[in-house]
Amino acid sequence: MELQIKNLSKIYPGGKKALNEVSMTIHDGMFGLLGPNGAGKSTLMKILVTLLKPSSGDIFVNGQQLSDHRKEVRSLIGYLPQDFRFFPKLKTWEFLDYAASLAGVSSKKERSLMVDKMLEEVALYDFRNRFANKLSGGMKRRLGIAQALIGNPKIIVVDEPTTGLDPEERIRFRNILSRLTKNEVIVVLSTHIVGDISSSCNQMALINSGELQFLGTPSDFVGKADGHVWSIDVAFDELQNVKEQYHVITSIPNVDSYTLEVLTIGENGLAKYNPKPVAPNLEHAYVYFMESQNFVIQE
Ligand code: ADP
Repeated sequence: MELQIKNLSKIYPGGKKALNEVSMTIHDGMFGLLGPNGAGKSTLMKILVTLLKPSSGDIFVNGQQLSDHRKEVRSLIGYLPQDFRFFPKLKTWEFLDYAASLAGVSSKKERSLMVDKMLEEVALYDFRNRFANKLSGGMKRRLGIAQALIGNPKIIVVDEPTTGLDPEERIRFRNILSRLTKNEVIVVLSTHIVGDISSSCNQMALINSGELQFLGTPSDFVGKADGHVWSIDVAFDELQNVKEQYHVITSIPNVDSYTLEVLTIGENGLAKYNPKPVAPNLEHAYVYFMESQNFVIQE
């Protein structure tokens, strides 16, 4: 599969520019779309799944222009929206059965096989008779991905699926997504949580204020912060001073000093602290990108 996004812009009625000339090409595998709240991620995802029309620009799926082939492209897509809701009166299996009916699977037997397979895939088989709205937050999210997988989509779009999940459920969810990429599919995962852009993403992008800031592999992204992260020891009474001048990522108290991990943009001026270089990670790179653009980082 190939998803080509070309010069995509979206201006909402009222004038808010949510996307500005965004272009990228996405291939098979897991694509992580990272950005703080309000960056434009949901807008991009809604355009991808044909729920929203762009103001300008277009998307091509295997060379087919989305604006001319909405129906065909729609049939290739599975979508888990950010605010996914269940019908309160349906059991877990009934919900999937209903979703399969909506997707056009008319044979009851075929639906039943499909539902059982989905339930196994997302580890909800043992909970199939529980009412969907009585599942835990993580289980609901897994049911959400199961409904997105009905009809074997080639492009799976999941919008902020890990928000509010505990770390264990987050990992579980990511593992389900990365298992999917063993088939020839594209999984587009949007998130404001750096930890979601794990090594399972073979491609990633960073967007902020509707602008594409980075496109490449997670390791290229990390590489951008090379030479910008330092470890220094400072006396207790110097801590405040350093915090005012630099972005302190971590501070570990020692007996008579702090060991700090500090991110610097441009001239570092840390020589008097005898800085030691630190190999950057994804979080460092994210802070580096956001700081170098003078944006506020959101939790
Ligand atoms: P994200 O998913 O990264 O949090 P969104 O795509 O939801 O970002 O929003 C991008 C920007 O567009 C935000 O400033 C948001 O307030 C604005 N926005 C989103 N939806 C609408 C809408 N329907 N009408 C007007 N502005 C919107």
